[in-house]
Amino acid sequence: MEQDIPPPPPHVLIFPIPALGHVNSMLKLAELLSVAGLRITFLNSEYNHDRLTRHADVCSRYTHRFPGFQFKTITDGLPMDHPRVGHKFDEVLHSVKSVTPPLLKQMLIDDIKPPVDCIISDGFMSFAVDVANELGIPIIYFRTISACAFWAYFCVRDIIDAGELPIKGKEDMDRLIKNVPGMETFLRCRDLPSFCRAEDPLDRNIQLFMSETRSSPRAQGLILNTFDDLEGPILSLIRTHCPNIYTIGPLQAHLKTRVPSGMQSTNGFWEVDRSCMAWLDKQPPKTVIYVSYGSITMLSREDVMELWHGLVDSNKRFLWVVRPDLISDRDGDQSQIPEKLVVGTKERGYMVGWAPQEEVLEHQAVSGFLTHSGWNSTLESVVAGQPMICWPFFADQQVNSRFVGQVWKLGLDMKDHVYDRKVVEKTVNDLMVEKREEFVESTDRMSKLAWKSVSDGGSSSCNLDRLIEDIRSMSVRASTDK
Ligand code: UDP
Repeated sequence: MEQDIPPPPPHVLIFPIPALGHVNSMLKLAELLSVAGLRITFLNSEYNHDRLTRHADVCSRYTHRFPGFQFKTITDGLPMDHPRVGHKFDEVLHSVKSVTPPLLKQMLIDDIKPPVDCIISDGFMSFAVDVANELGIPIIYFRTISACAFWAYFCVRDIIDAGELPIKGKEDMDRLIKNVPGMETFLRCRDLPSFCRAEDPLDRNIQLFMSETRSSPRAQGLILNTFDDLEGPILSLIRTHCPNIYTIGPLQAHLKTRVPSGMQSTNGFWEVDRSCMAWLDKQPPKTVIYVSYGSITMLSREDVMELWHGLVDSNKRFLWVVRPDLISDRDGDQSQIPEKLVVGTKERGYMVGWAPQEEVLEHQAVSGFLTHSGWNSTLESVVAGQPMICWPFFADQQVNSRFVGQVWKLGLDMKDHVYDRKVVEKTVNDLMVEKREEFVESTDRMSKLAWKSVSDGGSSSCNLDRLIEDIRSMSVRASTDK
């Protein structure tokens, strides 16, 4: 009697831009797809893979748990000692775009086995669509930013065509932008993605972000790490250009519903310092503000000192992530740390180089988040129901913080406020005490909606199932074509 041999699992290549926020989100997606039985090849930059394997359990957690899961590496075109942070990060994007296309093609033909049934590439790599089309491989984009930031990026060409850019100096910052549908009543010049601040609309970063985002409809689908109850109206507008959207976020919450507790992987480019959890355990409930600027934002030494004074002067307890490369001008003024800061930090504060952020935000002692408004941090805060102080720096952060402050009412948008100790002190007190009531209801509500979206029958859960089914049918089509 002939036995039915089950078809091999679909093989998916996942390829993020080499930035931690992107790599983290795409690893989460890789884990979700692996749990569903898909075979994954994860393509990392050599530089990032080296850092990930040094500080996180990536290799063992993925390759041991999921048969067939493999990591491959590719150069980002920069020397290993390039800093890849702060304002230098743009160089990574330009370099990847220029060196990768032939390498990717060659890897797909010669190196990655078995043949790939579907590529999920970062939605910032239009060259991947060219390569996929050339080789006849279906491709889906994953854009790791918010839908609202994606839509603002998408509309930049219309903003330029309508003469709304360039921004004419500081006095022009509060002018409303009329050409981002759905945001006409609240999006000011200052809330546009940071690259829009360039004086020349032909600036190479504007052109890069604009053209990459505009290429999104060329992929067969668009995955977004968000959920419909958070960004529904904007998603409807994006659908007019990219009809096949999979909103499957918040990814970290989604993982918790589909992967047994304690099994989820942790990723990071620095050694996680878990001592902060023991410190948090000793603090009274809802008394600590968590401060973190993500993985690539840098602050000047002067700003760090103002922030530090402000935190100490607020008299609130604080947990602050001071990454080894957080300070841009480390060699600057090395004068002694004032005694007041040393004593204040010892009494009420704790600093680590890298924290287990998702766990920190869910700790009962924490009751607020001072963030740079990176999208992962924002979503993690939404899931944990933490109100935010948003102090954005670049790219999508300006848009995210406007939505947090003005649309979702989940916190205070401090964009373009200088780091002044008095301002920091007052803002921390506003979030933790004076204005606390304003945010309790909205943060609770949005957290519940986030969890609902990833539970059985929720919008993100159904979209993830649809994504998996679509990939399976791509693989069946590929095998019948052979
Ligand atoms: N993160 C972390 N520990 C820290 C600081 C940050 O695990 O001490 C993680 C955080 O949970 C988030 C990511 O780093 O998932 C930062 O991504 P985000 O999009 O917020 O900012 P980016 O690093 O891209 O600027």
